[in-house]
Amino acid sequence: MAKTPHALVVPYPGSGNINPALQLAKLLHGRGVYVTFVNTEHNHRRVVAAEGAAALRGREGFRFETIPDGLLDADRDAADYDIGLSVATSRRCAAPLRELVARLELDGAAPPVTCMVFTALMSFALDVARELGIPTMALWGGSAASLMTHMRFRELRERGYIPLKDESFLTNGHLDTTVIDWIPGMPPISLGDISSFVRTTDPDDFNLRFNETEANNCTKAGALILNTFDDLEADVLAALRREYRRIYTVGPLGSLLDAGAGRAATGGLSLWKQDTECTAWLDTQEPGSVVYVNFGSLTVLTQAQLAEFAWGIAATGRPFLWVVRENLVPGGPAELPAEFVAETVGRRCLTTWCAQEQVLHHRAVGCFVTHNGWNSTCEGIAAGVPMVCWPGFADQYTNCKYACEAWGVGLRLDTEVRREQVAGHVKQVMESEETRGNAARWKAKAEVAARPGGSSYENMQSMVEAINSLSLSSPTTPQPKLNDREYLHGRGLEFTMNCCQFAMSD
Ligand code: UDP
Repeated sequence: MAKTPHALVVPYPGSGNINPALQLAKLLHGRGVYVTFVNTEHNHRRVVAAEGAAALRGREGFRFETIPDGLLDADRDAADYDIGLSVATSRRCAAPLRELVARLELDGAAPPVTCMVFTALMSFALDVARELGIPTMALWGGSAASLMTHMRFRELRERGYIPLKDESFLTNGHLDTTVIDWIPGMPPISLGDISSFVRTTDPDDFNLRFNETEANNCTKAGALILNTFDDLEADVLAALRREYRRIYTVGPLGSLLDAGAGRAATGGLSLWKQDTECTAWLDTQEPGSVVYVNFGSLTVLTQAQLAEFAWGIAATGRPFLWVVRENLVPGGPAELPAEFVAETVGRRCLTTWCAQEQVLHHRAVGCFVTHNGWNSTCEGIAAGVPMVCWPGFADQYTNCKYACEAWGVGLRLDTEVRREQVAGHVKQVMESEETRGNAARWKAKAEVAARPGGSSYENMQSMVEAINSLSLSSPTTPQPKLNDREYLHGRGLEFTMNCCQFAMSD
């Protein structure tokens, strides 16, 4: 008897992972896969507060479920919240996930789970799936190049590049002048552009260890799913495919959804209340005239950086839409210089969160000032919008390098923000025919990849076939867990984790 395939989708609880995971889930559902999308209880409450309960109601064959993230509410305002969340999910989420699978089986309303799709930073789910004999797929939320660099952290350590010898290496130019030219499929890249996680003198640095281990664990899943497309990262994908056979490139996920008119299938999941009026404001602006500024969900600016960006954007003389998240700067949007706010009346729209993909695709938007999170970078490519890049964390440096050098769609700002450079770079990317032409060409290539016959479209079909065949095969024999602490391997990491303020007893 034909069995309905059932994918349990388990994203890391941040916008950068939830968004692509939800897009992937919608695409699977649109192709006949039953989907259970797992939010943390905390994020469930946030989505309800931001968008109303209807956003999480689901529909036929698509349901939302929750598990606790293991973090105490008192720890949510901590400065190293992201580390605390990673520690908590890694240590505390396996049991609730196991219970959720059991609950789904018991209540019988859904077909048995036939595939677990987890995102990067959630590889405890791999252990749970192995124990239960459920096949897995991993969604790596970054670029192929960033997966490749993360896979090389161990070699960088062995070759003596990391950790840095002493603190002076952070600022003496070493990160810019040390060039790594031996990573398969990648052009020569400065040590600093490998990742923010190399900026450490501590061999047991949490981010370095955790991200290395998580990247490695993604490659242990039955298949790897990447939100990129073959033309965009041809060389590095070829190199990755030599190491891992089962890679499905299905990006840009938003373009694939657009192509199948699936975007509205279940609505979005925003953790912040979304401004709906900025689109009306954009409607009043000239095509290609607006500077759109958004640093994603995690970046934090100092007040001085905020002021430099503000005056730089003002100096362009152009209309602008700036998303100043409530926690973008300590003190929130109220910290914007009052003179800047007064001076730009009539040519600005300030808001705290927007529907970014919709904004990027608006004909009025002519430039994207971005932190180069992978989703933002990929969404900017898909929309054909030239970028001014200001990377600062994780893979953002690598994304920026590719955007500026490989794809020719952006200009990079110095780490130290200066208003003159902000204004100059915005002007340059908006006026450069070459940059605009490159952006238009990559947009067209993304569209081709997402159409029937295109690489991402066809890979999505193959992936669904693979998921279907998993549901037809007999249940896999339960496999031993990866060594209990393999994903937190190394005594150093255990030590770091035990010392951090989120230390928890198992
Ligand atoms: N995003 C959004 N509205 C905003 C800011 C961000 O919808 O005002 C979305 C954006 O479209 C992207 C995600 O949040 O899908 C941010 O992910 P990204 O990888 O760019 O950066 P991160 O937030 O992880 O640093």
